[in-house]
Amino acid sequence: MKIGIFGGTFNPVHYGHLRAAEEIRERLDLNTVLFIPSRNPPLKTKDIAPAKHRYEMLKRALRGSKQLNLSDIEFGLKGKSYTVRTIETLQLQYRNADFSFILGIDAFLDIPHWWHPERLTVLTDFAIISRPGYLFEDLRESPYLKAGKAMLKELDRGKTGHHRIKLTSKRDALLLPITPVGISSTEIRRLHKRGRSIKYLLPPEVESYIISNKLYKH
Ligand code: ATP
Ligand code: MG
Repeated sequence: MKIGIFGGTFNPVHYGHLRAAEEIRERLDLNTVLFIPSRNPPLKTKDIAPAKHRYEMLKRALRGSKQLNLSDIEFGLKGKSYTVRTIETLQLQYRNADFSFILGIDAFLDIPHWWHPERLTVLTDFAIISRPGYLFEDLRESPYLKAGKAMLKELDRGKTGHHRIKLTSKRDALLLPITPVGISSTEIRRLHKRGRSIKYLLPPEVESYIISNKLYKH
């Protein structure tokens, strides 16, 4: 059984997340991608909708897929939400599964600021996906991988489909360019606050949930 772990704030979930998960699922032949909304993100405090609302929006967004699933695992863990704890808990629950931790280039570059980052990089394999505004070449700043500039540039130019490398922790990382979708939750919140349209940036069920619960207005 192959499981993709897709963590995030999902504040709110949008088509950038959904399309990324679908493409990785297909490319890595995953049985499932688990969306894991952070209940209590340690590094984000601004403009955060309550966990229950972020969970409900994901539930509506994922209704149409059998293989993209929602996990409430961080809701059962006390205190701040730490990825290391979440993954360790999942590994106990699914003892024979192969896990890939999925994240965008921006999120991978942020790992040094997380709780026990070295422990995280030995715990699981990774899938690092492209995201508009970031380059695979930026990964040269990461302390957790050593990759040649030429190879990273090829990925950025769309010359190679994907690349497998070893992290310094000896774990595998797949570098995977995906269809560029230039959507972010920050931009959605900003537009909505100004009374601008957010239609077609996220599923209609999520848009109507935001409106009826008056989220992101203040
Ligand atoms: P915010 O602007 O609030 O940070 P976000 O759009 O970045 O929101 P997150 O919940 O922070 O969404 O991201 C969860 C994961 O999804 C991260 O690994 C991030 O890199 C990835 N991701 C988010 N949007 C995209 C996108 N448009 N394309 C590829 N990856 C994305
Ligand atoms: Mg983000």
